[in-house]
Amino acid sequence: MMEQQWVLLSDVRVPFDADDNVIWEKATEKMKRAGISAPPLLFRLYKKSFDARKRPDITAVCSVLIAYAPSVKLTERALGAAGAKVYRDPPICPERGNEPLGHRPLVVGMGPAGMFCALLLAENGYAPILIDRGDPIEGRVRAVEQFYATGVLDARSNIQFGAGGAGTFSDGKLITRVGDEKCGYVLRRFAEFGAPAEITTQARPHIGTDILRDVVDRILTYIEQCGGELHYRTCLQEIRELPDGTVNAVTDRGEIPCGCVVLAPGHSARDTYAMLMAKGYAVEPKPFSVGVRVEHLQSDIDRILYGDLAGHPKLPKGEYSQSDTRGERGVYTFCMCPGGEVMAAASEEGGVVVNGMSRHARDGVNANSAVAVSVFREDYGNTPMGVIEYQIALERAAFRMGGGDYTAPAQTMGDFLAGKQGTEPTRVQPSYRGGRVKLCDLGEVLPDYVTESLRRGFLSFDRRMPGYAAADTMLTGVETRTSAPVRLLRGESMTALGHDRIYPCGEGAGYAGGITSAAVDGIRAALALMKRFAPPKQ
Ligand SMILES: Cc1cc2nc3c(=O)[nH]c(=O)nc-3n(C[C@H](O)[C@H](O)[C@H](O)COP(=O)(O)OP(=O)(O)OC[C@H]3O[C@@H](n4cnc5c(N)ncnc54)[C@H](O)[C@@H]3O)c2cc1C
Repeated sequence: MMEQQWVLLSDVRVPFDADDNVIWEKATEKMKRAGISAPPLLFRLYKKSFDARKRPDITAVCSVLIAYAPSVKLTERALGAAGAKVYRDPPICPERGNEPLGHRPLVVGMGPAGMFCALLLAENGYAPILIDRGDPIEGRVRAVEQFYATGVLDARSNIQFGAGGAGTFSDGKLITRVGDEKCGYVLRRFAEFGAPAEITTQARPHIGTDILRDVVDRILTYIEQCGGELHYRTCLQEIRELPDGTVNAVTDRGEIPCGCVVLAPGHSARDTYAMLMAKGYAVEPKPFSVGVRVEHLQSDIDRILYGDLAGHPKLPKGEYSQSDTRGERGVYTFCMCPGGEVMAAASEEGGVVVNGMSRHARDGVNANSAVAVSVFREDYGNTPMGVIEYQIALERAAFRMGGGDYTAPAQTMGDFLAGKQGTEPTRVQPSYRGGRVKLCDLGEVLPDYVTESLRRGFLSFDRRMPGYAAADTMLTGVETRTSAPVRLLRGESMTALGHDRIYPCGEGAGYAGGITSAAVDGIRAALALMKRFAPPKQ
């Protein structure tokens, strides 16, 4: 087969409802204007986003992959003039080391970091053992549904813990700011296991919790088929590094002898953090933020963003991202879930935590988003335990304020801005646990500096998105798990400082913030491990 040369052309602008042919024509024209007039062999849409700033002229902004015959001369100058570059999508080619592992590698955590690490290890003959404190998908869904219906929390298996990790009950947004070529690999693998193929071309890809659950199930089954071993309801409690270099992982289901440990426990494994700190692992507090979930009607957000074109079938559900950095503390929106619902994301008894999720169709009535405020080191005494205790104190305050049965404290935007409470929700009905919220003053749950910063942020967002701070907008608290509060320090070899067979990775270790970046970090850990060790003998 004739090899082609691929070029990635950015900033191809067409009307939002244009067909693919219009995009190809526009791309060809752009290349011609830069002096590359050879006929393209193939086109592929790489990314597509929408620019609605000059409404009603909404534009689709596309990046396009174009294939040319090998004989076509593509000079850097001409490519630069077109806004294009040569495109190579390097496959992931693991190197293999010689050092004996002794036993099979153990991966702790079946979130995106642990799952993608184990996927690579399994496909390359390293037969990983994978453990998670939570349940497989089916049991986990049951535990979450029971919590929703009855308020009985399973602290082992919930929104944070179990197959697929924290993102399983999420919007499954795969956007990341990590500029790593492995991001494309992660998207392709998700698509291979059943995520919609469009995630590989959308600028803001998302899977949706309904599809993501099956995708996770397929990835984990495939890991087993490739020689991996999965253990659920198995919690790592201690790590014993042995004189022969191997490791004994102590779990609540017995000891697991292993050649090394990949630690991918996510940001809610507070007991695991405590165990590592007690063992003297180098852990430092990390910048993080806290706030509330904000809910609007999705139709209002669409109208704010698209004007009269709101609801057009060729436009995606309106999504926004806002920030206000004028004050001492930054306020920003985070994890916006169009057509989604607010999730009860507690993983410990006696704490209320909120987050957000959507189905693939994003067809819920409400749009939700976290609005979070930066927390400074001095707010919690600048220690790793201090920052975790800070989160716990807020979650417990929210639990008490809600009445002690995982009802969440909530307030209308109008009341929050006016410093009063008690106005009942009207147009926007809160979606947390089907509306199990208690009206209160969120200012009594959150520190004053968070409340004041949120007020400033809401008013500033309202200036850019008129209607954002409408009185009937709903706020539900508290959002405390926006990212890991600590970082487990690791060296260049990706092992924990002073522990050369322990590989901390993913969000919990403080090296990722989201599904894609956690998966990428898990891949990095797998590559580092394989580069050093030979596959275990079986
Ligand atoms: C409701 C919700 C919605 C979200 N939405 C999005 C989104 O749309 N897009 C996005 O990019 N991110 C989203 N996130 C964040 C995202 O889920 C995380 O960034 C990502 O899952 C982190 O991956 P991870 O593998 O590092 O850790 P996790 O996914 O947290 O996985 C860690 C796993 O380790 C297990 N574990 C912990 N301790 C132990 C132990 N001691 N022994 C055994 N197992 C253990 C846990 O049970 C868990 O399954 C969301 C999070 C939540 C909670």
